[in-house]
Amino acid sequence: MFTPPFNRIIEELPASTPFVGPETLERRSGTPFALRLGANESPFGMSPAAQSAMEASLSVISWYGDPEAYPLRSKLAALHHLSMEQVAIGSGIDEILGWIVRIFVQPGEPVVASLGGYPTFQYHVHSFGARLELVPYRPDFSNDLPGLLQAVEVTGAHLLYLANPDNPTGTHLTPEALESFIQSLPADCMLILDEAYIDFVHPTQRLPMIHFHPQVIRLRTFSKVYGMAGARVGYALALPEIVHAFDKIRNHFGVNRPALAGALAALKDTEFVRGVRRENAIGRVDYEQMAQTHGIQTIPSHTNFVSFNLNSKDRAQALLHNLMKLGVFVRAPGGAPPLDQLLRITVGTPEQRQLLKPLFAQAIQTLSNF
Ligand SMILES: *Cc1c(COP(=O)(O)O)cnc(C)c1O
Repeated sequence: MFTPPFNRIIEELPASTPFVGPETLERRSGTPFALRLGANESPFGMSPAAQSAMEASLSVISWYGDPEAYPLRSKLAALHHLSMEQVAIGSGIDEILGWIVRIFVQPGEPVVASLGGYPTFQYHVHSFGARLELVPYRPDFSNDLPGLLQAVEVTGAHLLYLANPDNPTGTHLTPEALESFIQSLPADCMLILDEAYIDFVHPTQRLPMIHFHPQVIRLRTFSKVYGMAGARVGYALALPEIVHAFDKIRNHFGVNRPALAGALAALKDTEFVRGVRRENAIGRVDYEQMAQTHGIQTIPSHTNFVSFNLNSKDRAQALLHNLMKLGVFVRAPGGAPPLDQLLRITVGTPEQRQLLKPLFAQAIQTLSNF
């Protein structure tokens, strides 16, 4: 039988699928989900202005998009008080994470991240044949900053990944804590600061852009607060040298024309974003109250989801299973402690939250057996 001549890295990759989407789960069960609250997609949709811009761009869909993404990059540069050479656009943070691994690590080299943290990053590390050094979260579900630093020092890693606010916990580090963490990094280590949820954090609680850290690559996205996950647009803020290195390897037409037009228009609709942030905050409080009703603790969230602490992996898995059976798509990080006792639910619209409450109450009933 013919065996394709795969390279060694691909041959050694585990057979598991890196990601099982909600559509896959629906096909498996044969029923569509009644509530889709598992992927931190925005239930509040996108800015109507952004949608119009995307629709208008379809009239020239026969053209390739601008490979320099000039208007979007200049707008982002102005917003963040940086130069255009410090801004790179990709088809979501997910794609940019792959570029970063590719330009900084060679096969076999170590890369540091938190155990149970954002899986897409870990998938890229594996796919380039690098080695993950994973540091468990602390018992309070925060990233273990001293532990991460120590892992970098011991292994000599050139890359460290940190999400702030964090997924799947929803925790957030103060600008002061982050600042001193960055100051402590060895000079040959780059920090990937994944800020997918930063738009949900009050501006005074964000690491300021004015102190530009050459060792830090900050990643942002239009997938969360802007409600454009399916459009696939994200960006990196980094040294011009790094942005130029991305240019050497990236797919130049990887971000499509409607996505570029939509992102630009979305940035201008600040009123819409404020509305989403407000609605989201109300939804989080709603979830906290729902948890309290059932005697369950939640981790204070700085994102568009809330992680419920079920106090044991068995209880978290049972609740996940029960909710999925009731047609509710949610996620439980599983894997290793302490994250394996969590269940993560994306903030829904008021209507979705009303639908969720009785289903949650029903799903929690059988958990008294544990
Ligand atoms: C949702 C999410 C992303 C995905 O961003 P895209 O721009 O949609 O690729 C990246 N990082 C974290 C931590 C996320 O939760």
